[in-house]
Parts: sequence; structure tokens; C-alpha cells
Amino acid sequence: MNMIKFNVPPFTGKEIEYIRQCIDEQKICGDGAFTKKCNAWFEARMQVNKCLLTTSCTHATELASLLIDIKEGDEVIMPSYTFVSTADAFVLRGAKVVFVDIRPDTMNIDENKIEAAITDKTKAIVPVHYAGVACEMDTIMDIAKRHNLYVIEDAAQGVMSTYKGAALGTIGDLGCFSFHETKNYSMGEGGALLLRDEQFIEKAEILREKGTDRSRFFRGQVDKYTWQEAGSSYLPSDMNAAYLYAQLEIADEINEARRKIWDTYYTGLKPLQDSGKLELPVVPEGCIHNAHMFYVKAKDNEERTALIDYLKGKDILSVFHYIPLHSAPAGKKYGRFAGEDVYTTRESERLTRLPLYYGLTDEQNQYIIEQVIRFYSTR
Ligand SMILES: *Cc1c(COP(=O)(O)O)cnc(C)c1O
Repeated sequence: MNMIKFNVPPFTGKEIEYIRQCIDEQKICGDGAFTKKCNAWFEARMQVNKCLLTTSCTHATELASLLIDIKEGDEVIMPSYTFVSTADAFVLRGAKVVFVDIRPDTMNIDENKIEAAITDKTKAIVPVHYAGVACEMDTIMDIAKRHNLYVIEDAAQGVMSTYKGAALGTIGDLGCFSFHETKNYSMGEGGALLLRDEQFIEKAEILREKGTDRSRFFRGQVDKYTWQEAGSSYLPSDMNAAYLYAQLEIADEINEARRKIWDTYYTGLKPLQDSGKLELPVVPEGCIHNAHMFYVKAKDNEERTALIDYLKGKDILSVFHYIPLHSAPAGKKYGRFAGEDVYTTRESERLTRLPLYYGLTDEQNQYIIEQVIRFYSTR
């Protein structure tokens, strides 16, 4: 069997035709027809007030950080087990990141440890929906309300997932999606900012357009556009949006295909969990996930490394994930861990992600399961 890659970017076949349309119509810059179609698709599908396509999830989070006016000395609460962008967006504006431990079952921020991390400098909570499985949002929203804090959802991995019926990214004040090539829906590099309420919409449009009211101008609300705020450029090219739109048209089909692979892994590896050899992901009640990721947890770091090496020998690329941010040089400089690191380091060292992408065949899926079972048969 050929090497099974860990990830293959989604491709439906329509992308080239749509990119061609941009070229033929000589509209390749930002906020063209496909960007508008993508925004409208998310607004309708996710039942959210406003969606603005951005150049990345990193940039969507930066935009969120600007919108809530993060300043030097503010504190932002997030898990340490996350991608660097979650922290970068706030640190760039002078904030200190306060890391809270994760739950061992979902690898998400432990909602019960958040309140102890709040100080009079805390401005926002940033839940990260790991593997597209929702954080305990009812508890988080309640804490935020009582302490007057913003909630910015890092839903980079959570596109098409829901929590008690609500789309991830639409529950907090602001939500951030990623369309990086490793995500369920992709445009190479790209993301989106979801705006739940009216309050930030106009300012978001201005900041995203270099600080100008260009969006108002295009809607005919002003007769010329001018510099309004200190902004930046967060608009992706319409050619990238064209690539994404092709996948949105068959978003359910992609979602179902991923879910089928995830379920096959789960059923196939369940006997290993039942016999206490490894642990499988947990999806709490009320959460519908998008099969962004399938991971297994080995006994410890050593067994995980052996598993990754074994699978590599069988032409399967499995990969570990985040090095907790609080242990990294920048994490030490810009952050602190509130409370004790009971699970963040320990659980992150046990986790391995198995190949999962749109297009992974049933044969490959079965072969990978077989090889994981073989590895554990010697243990
Ligand atoms: C992928 C990812 C990001 C960054 O997304 P980009 O679009 O590459 O900027 C941020 N947070 C999490 C949790 C991610 O998985």
C-alpha cells in the first residue's frame, strides 16, 4: 500500500471552474462574488448575524482582539493546549495570557477551573473547541456574563459542529473559523470572523478594510470612503473564496464522509479501549461534532512514540499535536498558568492523531485500524 498521508486538502472538482470565473470576470481581489457567497452561506447555515471571510483564523482572532479593544496589561483566559494563534492575537495587543487546565475527556478548557483564574484585569475567555467537539459553553457563557467578560470562540476546528443545537462560533460574542488546508473546509489559507450581535459589525467591516468605510461606500451609504480607524487588511482574494465555495456547496456530503471515517475508527478500535489498552475521544451529550480529528491516547509518551513509529513502518502517517503553550519560550514570556497543570501536559503527551480526510478510502480506514490493533496485540 502507498504511504497514507495524515492529511489531504479537500478538493471537490468544482474549484478550478470557480477560480476560472474570477479570472474571466477580472475580479480577483477581496470581497468579490465568491466571498459574498461564502459569507451568505455561513450566515444562513450557522444562523449568525454576520460572517466576514478573512485571510486566516489567526487574522480573524486578531480582528476579534482589536474589536474588544485589548490593551496592554489586559488578561485573556485560554487553554495552554492550543495552537499558537489563539494566544498570538492577544499578545500582539499587549495582553497577558492566563492558561487554564484542560479536561482529560475532551481536551477542552476545564470550565470549572476558569473562575479561579479571573482577576480584575481579565477581559475575555477564549474557549478552543478541540477536534471540533464543543467546550461546555453554557457554563462558560454564564461565567462571562457574571464577570462581564467577552467570549471569543476559537472554532478553527469546529466548522459545522454544534453545541445544544447552536453552531460553534456563534455562541460567544465573536467566533473564529479556519480554512487552512488541514481543516475540514479549505481555501489554502483563510478564515472567517462570525459576529453574533449588531454591536461590532460596522467596526469589524472598517478594521478589515484597512480602517476605511469602503463597505459602506459599496452599499451606497456614503459617497466616498475615507480613513476611519487604525485598521489592517484581512480580506482574502476572491480566488481563494472560490476554492472554498466549491466545498460549501457539498458541505454536508464532506461532513458525512468524515463522520463515517470517524465512526469506523471508533467502532474498530473500541475493543482496545474496552480492554484498557488505549483511550478514544469523548463527545459529551448535546455536542454534535464534525469529525475534524480522530485521536487515540496511548498509556504514556513512550508508548505513543512507539505507536507512531510502528505505523510509519506500515506506511501510515500519524502525528502528535500541540506542545502546551505554557512550556514554550513565548508562553513563559507572555503567559502564566493559573492553578495546577494536572492534565494539560500529561494528556497532550499521550495523544496521536490518525489520518482523516475527505477522500480517505474505506480500505485505508480498515487497514489503519488493523495496524493499530496489531501494535497493541504485542503489548
Ligand atoms: C488551525 C488553527 C488555528 C489557526 O488557523 P489559521 O487559519 O491557520 O490561522 C487557530 N486555532 C486552532 C485551534 C487551530 O486548529
